[in-house]
Amino acid sequence: MQINTHLQQLKDNYLFTEIANRTQAYQRVHPEAHVLRLGIGDVTLPLPSVIIDAMHRAVDELAHVETFRGYGPEEGYHWLRQAIIDNDYVPRGIHLTPEEVFISDGAGSDLGNLSDLFDTANTVAILEPSYPAYVDTSRMAGRQIIWLPCLEQNNFYPDLPAQKADILYLCFPNNPTGTTLTKDQLQRFVDYALAHKSIIIFDSAYEIFIEDPDVPHSIYELEGAKQVAIEIRSYSKTAGFTGVRCGYTIVPKETGLQQMWYRRQCTKYNGTSYISQRGAEAIYSPEGKAQVMSNIHHYKQTAQLIANGLRDLGYDVWGGKNAPYVWCRTPHGMDSWSFFDSLLEQCQVVCTPGVGFGTLGEGFVRFSAFSDRKEVEEALKRMQTIA
Ligand code: PLP
Repeated sequence: MQINTHLQQLKDNYLFTEIANRTQAYQRVHPEAHVLRLGIGDVTLPLPSVIIDAMHRAVDELAHVETFRGYGPEEGYHWLRQAIIDNDYVPRGIHLTPEEVFISDGAGSDLGNLSDLFDTANTVAILEPSYPAYVDTSRMAGRQIIWLPCLEQNNFYPDLPAQKADILYLCFPNNPTGTTLTKDQLQRFVDYALAHKSIIIFDSAYEIFIEDPDVPHSIYELEGAKQVAIEIRSYSKTAGFTGVRCGYTIVPKETGLQQMWYRRQCTKYNGTSYISQRGAEAIYSPEGKAQVMSNIHHYKQTAQLIANGLRDLGYDVWGGKNAPYVWCRTPHGMDSWSFFDSLLEQCQVVCTPGVGFGTLGEGFVRFSAFSDRKEVEEALKRMQTIA
């Protein structure tokens, strides 16, 4: 047996462990301190009641022989795939067939699993800073990475790869910078992929936060994208499914990959839980849409509060609009961890050091709209003392 040395050589992802360790160490010395957590990447509001009711009904069905269900289709139930097409795509003029929609247990798994479709010799372009899954997945497979720097000078909008990239991971609205691309900006990537016969894996986990008309909700709004893009969506941040687990991946037939992905899923994936899928279906009912949007509205207001509050305190910030994350430059050229420590020690506020998302995240920190509103208000008040 020979192990996968690429996987073995992967560095530990210590970001969240290190945040927890430093926070606990502070609390041990200051047990009376009320630490405010503004770095949270997980949703905090409970599931909308219409989703809870749908999942209760699904559980009850499983309790009776007449309505019991065992294995479902690997690619997901037809009623959910059709609801996705009718609600998330048709209103934007995008036409898909149910065979192109694959229900998943969330974006995380498919971001990694899609790697099965491609030769390990393929080069991969990844934004820097970025959500760590793209880097780790590519490294596990031993693929060469081409970095696409997202810098303050270019408003965190990446340039096209200077050399040929076979696979491009794009994530917009972006985690961690909270930035988005306009239609014209995203079209350049689609055109690049068409010209180079590349594939774009478009992570659209935060689509629900988009409000500007010029920001595309789906990559398929762009000319030619169906030939070169796989789109990944998740109900995690959309509807509070981080623990329930459900999302979907679109593999258009025009990519030439749809049958291969179906074949792969039939072997390696036995389908998403019936209960989760019924919960996801309820998102598309009129009450479901209203309840989901009410939660999103709450998070959006928190994002605005953080972004405006930090600006008023003199910080340079990006994001917070069309996205739940606010990207903040550290003051006085401090590095990410030094600013993290000083915020913790002086204000008892926890943020996420930007360097945890890649070297180019150094000098920034991320604040999250999933934080408790009252804690955000209190944190901004405390931060006045160090402004
Ligand atoms: N993609 C991005 C950009 C994320 O930020 C996250 C989670 O934070 C995921 C994917 C994973 O989401 P899921 O819960 O659907 O696996």
